[in-house]
Amino acid sequence: MQGKNKEVVLCVKCNRFEGEVNVSGKLLCVQCARDEIVKRVRRELSSTGFLEKNDRVLIAYPTFYGNVAALIKDIVSRICKGCNLTIDEVKVEPKGDINETLWTLFKEVFDLNYKKVILPLTADFFLSYLIYSISSLNHGFLSYYDLVTEFRGVKFFIPLFSTPLQELKGFSEITGELNTKDEVLDEILKWSHKEFQDNEIFHTFVNSLTIFSGKRCKICGAYVRPNEEYCQYCLRLSSQKR
Ligand SMILES: [Zn+2]
Ligand SMILES: [Zn+2]
Repeated sequence: MQGKNKEVVLCVKCNRFEGEVNVSGKLLCVQCARDEIVKRVRRELSSTGFLEKNDRVLIAYPTFYGNVAALIKDIVSRICKGCNLTIDEVKVEPKGDINETLWTLFKEVFDLNYKKVILPLTADFFLSYLIYSISSLNHGFLSYYDLVTEFRGVKFFIPLFSTPLQELKGFSEITGELNTKDEVLDEILKWSHKEFQDNEIFHTFVNSLTIFSGKRCKICGAYVRPNEEYCQYCLRLSSQKR
């Protein structure tokens, strides 16, 4: 036989449709990939008990996470159909420096006085930010990197903390790369997407993060050096107010 002979690999779960998305090392069709992510978020919500009936939560994100935020909002509302949740939003425009972007975001969050906050950040972002942080010797907002953390009486939930953007490809609303406006971080993101196509690392590297734990800025919660009380951004703000 002549001509193109592209072999279609079937989804390992349903065995009916073409496998297109790699989720946790399994090649899945678009539908099964979506189911898998929804199942993951459902599992995390129930294991952490993060949400209760009639909760008022804030979903907070830089604008380059707009698509993912909308998706998370949709998934959480669908999972918690009878919960009567109020999900409000706050978003910030990215600055040229990712730490400043994140600082602006957390500042907004603490100003708004919510008790529960969902951050739609993904594992590929955190991995890239980790590499970025090591090279700049500022571990900044790695302090928030976990499924659930708490700071100044606010609980933070990161449902996609071990899910990279690439595993969300089954959702048609998720398109393209993150454009954080921080050139160095954007380069690292592109590199990591190319380098780690099997997505395995995103489920394991969280274990290596404990080495960064340490003192946190009293206002925004970013990591600071042992002899500091506040991060550079909070310090700058307080000196401007004086
Ligand atoms: Zn399938
Ligand atoms: Zn600070």
